[in-house]
Amino acid sequence: MTHIAIVGGGPAGLMAADRLSRAGCTVTVHDRMPSMGRKLLMAGRGGLNLTHAEPWDRFTLRYGAAADRLRPTLDGFDRDALVQWSQDLGQPTFTGPSDRIFPVAMKASPLLRAWLGQLAARSVTFRTRSTFLGWDANGALRFRAADGSISLEAADAVVLAGGGASWARLGSDGSVAAVLAEDGIAIEPFTAANVGVDIPWTETFISRFAGQPLKGCAFTVGNQRVRGEAVITRYGLEGGAIYALGPALRTALARDATPRLWIDLRPDMKADALAARILETPAHQSLSNRLRKAVSLPPLTVPLLREHLSTLPATPAALATALKGVALTVTGRQSLDRAISSAGGVRWSEVDAHLMLTARPGVFCAGEMLDWEAPTGGYLLQATLATGVAAAEGVLAWLSPTGQGSP
Ligand SMILES: Cc1cc2nc3c(=O)[nH]c(=O)nc-3n(C[C@H](O)[C@H](O)[C@H](O)COP(=O)(O)OP(=O)(O)OC[C@H]3O[C@@H](n4cnc5c(N)ncnc54)[C@H](O)[C@@H]3O)c2cc1C
Repeated sequence: MTHIAIVGGGPAGLMAADRLSRAGCTVTVHDRMPSMGRKLLMAGRGGLNLTHAEPWDRFTLRYGAAADRLRPTLDGFDRDALVQWSQDLGQPTFTGPSDRIFPVAMKASPLLRAWLGQLAARSVTFRTRSTFLGWDANGALRFRAADGSISLEAADAVVLAGGGASWARLGSDGSVAAVLAEDGIAIEPFTAANVGVDIPWTETFISRFAGQPLKGCAFTVGNQRVRGEAVITRYGLEGGAIYALGPALRTALARDATPRLWIDLRPDMKADALAARILETPAHQSLSNRLRKAVSLPPLTVPLLREHLSTLPATPAALATALKGVALTVTGRQSLDRAISSAGGVRWSEVDAHLMLTARPGVFCAGEMLDWEAPTGGYLLQATLATGVAAAEGVLAWLSPTGQGSP
């Protein structure tokens, strides 16, 4: 019987195991951690955002430079397929605010439990605390067990799904990509994606406003503008809008040590309309009150303006202009270990259309260890699962009598 080794028991590796075990292959999944799917479980902590309901053509453009390469893979396992997959695991979904799709249970644990159960029922073998080290001279896979012993495994094909390099304590530490790099495979260095930015708030400001949201704003870096929400943290800002600006922030920080992040606090109103509303409020009231009454701006608005202006604007017109362009100084980004995902990984030039490494026939890559990135919103799991499917289908095609592998 055809034996497939899978490295990585995250969603990409498990999806490959799912497809390959359904096709009748014997499958062993190795993971360096004591249990499978640790990052998936963590992703479910704040609500497992499986995918997104926006129009598919727009959806598939969320993957930046990798969008063209990923498109056929995403079409091969699209949003409907993902929703059906979740449903088949006993986890119906719903579309929540901002068109994000979640399982009704919100958490990942029931889904993962059901999935692992189904895989075990199809005789998939799970090897935990089993760290992939590479290949021996005869092409067998080398694994290190928890006691340090080394074992060899021969496989007809291999799916590498070692994840990205964020939150290393959950398992994905970039070590699979490092093995490939030693093997001469081109790897784009991992860097933080979907991570907060550092802003040197004053102690007065942060002691009052840490944890508060900036809702319905537009955030701009360079020529990229994103509408959405961010949360004020002790170190700076985090949240969907900041994550979506990630690539622009990386470019800006590479060019300038302290680039500007502009916030338009009322993107739906032109400055003159804003000024007119402010003018209608009684001048004897405090500025905070006037802004709250005139345009529903929260109490943090005036202190936020003070963070970047030495004196507050005196006229409604100048105030309106300031509200539409709060300029904050960005001094850095949070570390890779605090990032929701990572950019970088196995370069697209190294894999064929079936995600097989051209330098290592029979070895396929899936999930976040490939060089793509996407904002939060369900795009990460959609591409992760779709590449798991594509790698499995690649394995089956390669092992078929007309393929080049030898089953
Ligand atoms: C806090 C947080 C919240 C998130 N929320 C969401 C969300 O709501 N929606 C969404 O779409 N995405 C979310 N994500 C991102 C999502 O979880 C990841 O994109 C996804 O898990 C990637 O799947 P993967 O299978 O490629 O890698 P991983 O899930 O990282 O799995 C890789 C596996 O490989 C194993 N491994 C690594 N190296 C080796 C080795 N050398 N030998 C053996 N095993 C190895 C690891 O232990 C790990 O289990 C979130 C991530 C985080 C951190």
